[in-house]
Amino acid sequence: MDDSAYGSRDKRGNWTPKDPLTTAPIWSFPPDFGAILRWLPGYFLPWNVLFMATATLFWVVFTPGPETLKTLSWGWILGILARNCIAVVIFYGIFELRLYIQRKQGTAFKYNPKFPQDTENDAFMFRSQNAEGLIRTFGTGIPAWTAYEVLVLWVFANGWVPWLSWSTNPVWLVCFGLILPLFHQFHFYLVHRLIHVPVLYRYIHSVHHNSVNPSPWSSLSMHPIEHILYFSGVLIHLIVPSNPLLAIYQLHIAGLGAVVGHIGFDKMETVDEKAMNTHAFAHYLHHKYFEVNYADGGIPLDRMFGTFHDGTKAGDALMDARTARRNAKRG
Ligand SMILES: [Zn+2]
Ligand SMILES: [Zn+2]
Repeated sequence: MDDSAYGSRDKRGNWTPKDPLTTAPIWSFPPDFGAILRWLPGYFLPWNVLFMATATLFWVVFTPGPETLKTLSWGWILGILARNCIAVVIFYGIFELRLYIQRKQGTAFKYNPKFPQDTENDAFMFRSQNAEGLIRTFGTGIPAWTAYEVLVLWVFANGWVPWLSWSTNPVWLVCFGLILPLFHQFHFYLVHRLIHVPVLYRYIHSVHHNSVNPSPWSSLSMHPIEHILYFSGVLIHLIVPSNPLLAIYQLHIAGLGAVVGHIGFDKMETVDEKAMNTHAFAHYLHHKYFEVNYADGGIPLDRMFGTFHDGTKAGDALMDARTARRNAKRG
């Protein structure tokens, strides 16, 4: 597919989509219902609908019943760990295989024209972005995700928090499910701002930022403390009355959804000259520029605090002005 109809490349080969990033219109006042209607399909498709489907499959088919979950035992805990590992291998693997190994679409829609595995980099274990990503993802990332999942399921099964049923509380559970992706972004924003505090950045978050040109295995390439913070949003289900399916959905938004911002391509070509939007651009800019787009545009906090970058030259200018102001203040 010809990506020049959708954006442009600079002299260094960096590709930028022609449509600037926006924040969700649900936060504008007075409400612009036309804009909200145009935004809604992208809120659901493709990712949140997919994660709801995977969560439902995992809860119904690949999670033991409450009687088993009541008692912690290695058998089912390792089963949960295994199924999460398999999900990541398949889901992350699809992007890695098609876009980075087979390179099915070359550099079409690729923000950074370079493929990280083509160069060795001293910043990484074994001088390889992929090797470090794999080690951190399977070494501590999925274990942290699994530990939260086990904790939440165990607490639900023992009746220590309310387990609402879909037949008696459908309205609340549907509403809660609808806002969970936004809650995930809100929680991620707070955690992410915290670990950009210089001392925490240096010892914890810089691990993740070593991937300046992120690829799928960068997604959970994090320090273990960042993993613990990142997945902690699921604890809301122990505070707000909920249902285990929604907790698993939230973990899929975080665990499987982490790959979304690290695909490195704006669109993934499918069949018949069609392409799917990846929604990767906002977080790609965060990896490129470090201090913009702490969350994606679903919540307005980056805009409110002046850290929103829409990907355009005007966005560059705003960012540069902010950096100059800060440097002047520091003298
Ligand atoms: Zn990232
Ligand atoms: Zn960051």
